[in-house]
Amino acid sequence: MKAAIYHGPHQDLTIEDVEIDKPMAREVVVRTAATGVCHSDLHFVDGLYPFPPPAVLGHEAAGVVEEVGELVHYVKPGDHVIACLSVFCGTCDYCTSGRPNLCRSPETRRGESDPPKLRFAKDGSTVNQFANISSFAEQMLLHENAIVKVREDMPLDRAALIGCGVMTGVGAALNTAKVEPGSNVAVFGAGGVGLAAIQGARIAGAAMIIAVDVVESKLALAKELGATHIVDASSHDPVEAVRELTGGGVHYSFEAIGLKDVAEQAFNCLAAGGTATVIGMIPVGQKVELDGRSFLSERKIQGSSMGSNRFRIDMPRYIEFYRQGRLKLDEMITRRGRLEDVNEAFRAMKAGEVARTVLTFD
Ligand SMILES: [Zn+2]
Ligand SMILES: [Zn+2]
Repeated sequence: MKAAIYHGPHQDLTIEDVEIDKPMAREVVVRTAATGVCHSDLHFVDGLYPFPPPAVLGHEAAGVVEEVGELVHYVKPGDHVIACLSVFCGTCDYCTSGRPNLCRSPETRRGESDPPKLRFAKDGSTVNQFANISSFAEQMLLHENAIVKVREDMPLDRAALIGCGVMTGVGAALNTAKVEPGSNVAVFGAGGVGLAAIQGARIAGAAMIIAVDVVESKLALAKELGATHIVDASSHDPVEAVRELTGGGVHYSFEAIGLKDVAEQAFNCLAAGGTATVIGMIPVGQKVELDGRSFLSERKIQGSSMGSNRFRIDMPRYIEFYRQGRLKLDEMITRRGRLEDVNEAFRAMKAGEVARTVLTFD
């Protein structure tokens, strides 16, 4: 199969022939129909997070099951699925206490003595799988607990977005922060994940949803997707602006970029008792600084991992939201391309030109 190979930070991915292994007992091979290009893929290409090359990146994907291992009963060839990097074992403390997104059990990974999942066709050397998915490729080899079966009338390019960005943003609002109906919300960053958080806040029934960004076109899209107010942080102090709009601060704020300064802003614009949720990937080693006195008025700050998902429950629900017109996905796809366009997709994302590029396969 063809796959886009990551050779290390600050280098273009190259399209190469890769062999995918046969599924082991609880694994499935999925033919990739569509993959979104997510900001976290870019973090690795930019060297902000480490990952050993050579590897196939990509983790926001949907496709059709081709082959299943002998113990797989959950899906059969022909089933439509969304992949999720929150692969769960089903038996550890996190899984059994209702927080499967925090499962780190090695049970769902291949062992050291097992063959690699991916190899270069030219010399048989190992290619690393990223996030247990590696979707910048024509096929994916996944543990059965890394997929959710979805209805076949759901378009797979839009289903792919649910696999990471939408789950992360909507889930941060609904699962992690549990936004209350009638409350005030500020979302910092109106890229793919921020737009999804805005939609999550709208679905939750927030009264006021303030989108903060520095790119005008993103703020316009934020309004289309549910923001009631916008703040252009390139010309206004966002903390002051949010405090003024709300008369003292928001009940919930979300950081959807991955910057220390923005995480601090998200915390500083909270009303007493408010909760800031950091969704973005703040570069490894960076410290977030907060005014100690703020904690006396019960301001809280928390992380969110993949929208605190229970993805086999959440993703089919989000598809129903989409079908009802409550979750807008078509509007979030700014650009489409083929696997060969992956480097251009990274460039456009870095330049702030797109909410999402979706790459599709035949
Ligand atoms: Zn992602
Ligand atoms: Zn587990």
